[in-house]
Amino acid sequence: MDTRTAYREHLAEMARFASALALLGWDQHAHMPKKGGVFRAQVTAMLAQMHFERGVSDDLGRYLDELKSDTSLSEAEAGSVRRIGKEYKREKAIPPALIAEVAAARSEAQQAWAQARQASDFSMFKPHLEKMVDYGRRFADYYTYDEHPYDGLLEGFEPGMTVNQLHEIIEPLRAQTVPFLKKLLDEGEAPDPSLLTGTFDVDVQRKLAHRALEAVGYDFDAGALDDVPHPFTTSIGPDDVRVTNRYAPDYLGSGLFAALHEGGHAIYNQGMPTDLFLLGIPGGSSNGIHESQSRMIENQIGRSLPFWRFFQPILAEYFPQFSDASPDDLYRASNHVSPSLIRVEADEVTYNFHIMLRFELEAGLIDGSIRVADLPRLWNEAMERYVGVVPENDAVGVLQDVHWSMGAFGYFPSYMLGNLYAAQLFDTLRQGRPNLDEEIASGDFTGLLGWLREHVHQYGAIYEPTELMTRVTGKPLDSSHFVNYIQDKFSAVYKVK
Ligand code: ZN
Repeated sequence: MDTRTAYREHLAEMARFASALALLGWDQHAHMPKKGGVFRAQVTAMLAQMHFERGVSDDLGRYLDELKSDTSLSEAEAGSVRRIGKEYKREKAIPPALIAEVAAARSEAQQAWAQARQASDFSMFKPHLEKMVDYGRRFADYYTYDEHPYDGLLEGFEPGMTVNQLHEIIEPLRAQTVPFLKKLLDEGEAPDPSLLTGTFDVDVQRKLAHRALEAVGYDFDAGALDDVPHPFTTSIGPDDVRVTNRYAPDYLGSGLFAALHEGGHAIYNQGMPTDLFLLGIPGGSSNGIHESQSRMIENQIGRSLPFWRFFQPILAEYFPQFSDASPDDLYRASNHVSPSLIRVEADEVTYNFHIMLRFELEAGLIDGSIRVADLPRLWNEAMERYVGVVPENDAVGVLQDVHWSMGAFGYFPSYMLGNLYAAQLFDTLRQGRPNLDEEIASGDFTGLLGWLREHVHQYGAIYEPTELMTRVTGKPLDSSHFVNYIQDKFSAVYKVK
């Protein structure tokens, strides 16, 4: 068998293991009975081990080595060899004994975090977090980096991104959006968000979410919609990309916008060719690019006036109390800005501030300039500086996210980058489709979906973010697109000049 065929078979086998693991994970969150957890954990651990062994095998190392200079590979194959080659190097860099040690520490840290959050007592989590930070620093050393140890961790979520680049992206963003928020709140006319609150039957909300997903091009013949406490999207196979969602009985926006968000992730995965799945690169260009697809469908589309022109009559079919609501009122109600403590509930204007403060803190933890003991104080100071509100306790402050208990340092910036990528991609999309607003208002999403398929989805993880952005928009990421988008949209909503 030639090396290319052997490589393809190796990756296809790994893809089948990954598919089984994804299905087990989906079932665990969406349907598994509580008592099924113990045996399920054993099955999952066994399959994960088999998948991992194939991902670090000497055979795979040899194939990657032989194929990296093979000029006869297809674009997808060459992309796979680049991405899998990088991952292989990272996986091999960590001593196997350390991986097992971290897995045990992580499960303890997660339990301690959950208890600490429950009790709103950071001291219960502190020794575990110190351990996880120490592991993070050791991992960074094993991964290697040029300038900042945090770069070694960022690479795992946002290939090519560095601390210095993030500072360059954040500086102008902060300089413009922090005063803009203040101006909106001081001088603006806040929209009334109460239009979307009330009592809404969850079964009807689920049908509405189904209808919204269909509208934006999610293919239910290659997917499913199920209920979970924390929504996510998962790729089980090339034609099996499942969305999960949750609904608040008293707030319509929660379930609707979460469905659109997950729908954005899902149409990205549904738009990837089967070959990319079999070549082990079904995950998208990066976490940030994946998030750009979900944020675009949720915000640039779902929270837009054209969308509400289309969707108001549909909403009224499901909830007749909206028969007389105007699209403009629904649009304004969807864009209420409210500085809040919790990242996952943040609006478009304040969301990035939550990320900036996490990035500053975790980069400081990893380079040793910040001590874990000082985190609660530094967290509260940063909240005051950026968002203008201070948590009354650690449960709604420094303990709110699960990421650090998992040792997932370097993950947070992807959320912010997703917003920025989305704005820049959307500007290019608009230039290519000048009638996009009219299309959306008339319920025609084929132009939008076609553009995303052609320029983003079909490439999956073949290109890293900077190359993808340059190919599609003509330049690397530049936060001015997001700043302009936010200022234009919210100046209009809040009627400020
Ligand atoms: Zn997302």
